[in-house]
Amino acid sequence: MLQLISNDILSRSWGICSRFSLIYNLMDINQHWLSDAIRILSPNHDNRTDPEDISLLVIHCISLPPGKFNNSYIDQLFCNKLNPVEHPYFKEIYQCPVSAHLLIKRDGHCVQYVAFDKRAWHAGKSSYEGRERCNDFSIGIELEGTESIPYTEAQYLQLATVIDTLLKTYPKLTRQRITGHSDIAPGRKNDPGESFNWQRIGKASDHRVA
Ligand SMILES: [Zn+2]
Repeated sequence: MLQLISNDILSRSWGICSRFSLIYNLMDINQHWLSDAIRILSPNHDNRTDPEDISLLVIHCISLPPGKFNNSYIDQLFCNKLNPVEHPYFKEIYQCPVSAHLLIKRDGHCVQYVAFDKRAWHAGKSSYEGRERCNDFSIGIELEGTESIPYTEAQYLQLATVIDTLLKTYPKLTRQRITGHSDIAPGRKNDPGESFNWQRIGKASDHRVA
C-alpha cells in the first residue's frame, strides 16, 4: 500500500529534496488472492484450461449505473445480486453472469472477486495475437470509471502496484502482455477508453512498452 514519507525522513535517508514522495511497495499474494484487497467471492468463474497459463492482463472499466461511482452495484452484478428494479440499465445486465478478478475503486481500494488461478468471466468473445478465448489465459482488472472521465491518481498508483505484484508472481505475464478490452474485442468493446493514460503503466499510447 501507499506510504507517504515526509521530506525530513527522505532527506536524511536518501538526500531527496521533494516535499513529499510516494513510495509504493509490492503487495502479497497468498493462494492467488491479494492480501490487500477486500475479498468478495463471485460465483461467476470456473477452472482455467491450464492453471499455469496466466499470460495476459486485460484492463477494463465499469461503473454502475454508468457514470456513478462509490456504491456496491458492481459487487452485486458480479455476485448475481443486482436488483433490476433499482435502475433501468440494470434490467439489461442483471442476468449476465460476469466477473473480473479485481476492481480498483476510485479511492484506490481493491476488491478481488476471483482467485487469479481461476478463470473469471470478463473478456467475452475476444482474441489476442490470434489466440481466442482470452478468459482462458488472462487476468481481468476493472477500474471503476468510464471511457471519458479521467481515472484518479489513487487508481493509477494502485494499478501500478498491482501490476508490479502480478508480474513478479506470474512469470508469463509481462509488461508487453498488458492490453485493453477494446484491443481484444475491437468493435464490440471500447474500455478502458480514451480516458485511460497508458503511459502511466509504462506503455505508449499504442500500448507498446514505452
Ligand atoms: Zn471490459
